[in-house]
Amino acid sequence: MAGGTTKRLDLSTPAKNLLWSESGGHCQNPQCRADLHVLIEQQRLHLGELAHIIPAQTGGPRADEDPELTDSDRAQPENILLLCPTCHTMIDKASHAYPATLLHEWKQRSQKARAQAFGTPIFDTRVDARAHIEPLLEANKAVFDRYGPRSGDFDDDRADQWQRHVAAAIIPNNQQLQRVLHANRHLLTTQEKTTFHTWAIHAQEFEERHLQGDWTAGSTRFPPAMATILVDEQ
Ligand SMILES: [Zn+2]
Repeated sequence: MAGGTTKRLDLSTPAKNLLWSESGGHCQNPQCRADLHVLIEQQRLHLGELAHIIPAQTGGPRADEDPELTDSDRAQPENILLLCPTCHTMIDKASHAYPATLLHEWKQRSQKARAQAFGTPIFDTRVDARAHIEPLLEANKAVFDRYGPRSGDFDDDRADQWQRHVAAAIIPNNQQLQRVLHANRHLLTTQEKTTFHTWAIHAQEFEERHLQGDWTAGSTRFPPAMATILVDEQ
């Protein structure tokens, strides 16, 4: 940072740990993914650099994208990426090509990859897999029956509650269902795989509508067979 004083980023240990675990120790640029740990002449080093999305100070790269962000929020891990030195230099020197929205997407990709790789159980039996996903399906159904657009008296109040429950429960549950079923697809019948794929399209479109406000997303319906996926006839 030429000119001004360089404000050292003093992140807490838990915040640093969060970034290291989120990144899996690899550069968070999805087109790079360099290993940030190296062994040079018997010495273990890490090359990870903490890179601001919105800079710590006014006037830095992407500063005009969120000028109102407080100093304290600028220093939160949500505003920081762990990058290799090359990518860190690149996103700051060519900041017009690396807007904040793109950098937030990089973080989300890391978080998803980590959950898929390390936060997803793999089961040996259909019964065990069903036991894991059943509470998620039931929780979503309970919210839908109580607040969903097809319940009897759907008005503005009800619509607000529906939106809140969608963001807090249904979408996170769907993301977990998607990961678990994908990782355990060896347990699905051919028909269930088709059901799962249709449901995954439904879940994706649902998320785009509710989280990104994209009302042009398709409206594939929830396939009824999804409710009993992995259930065997007695
Ligand atoms: Zn990199």
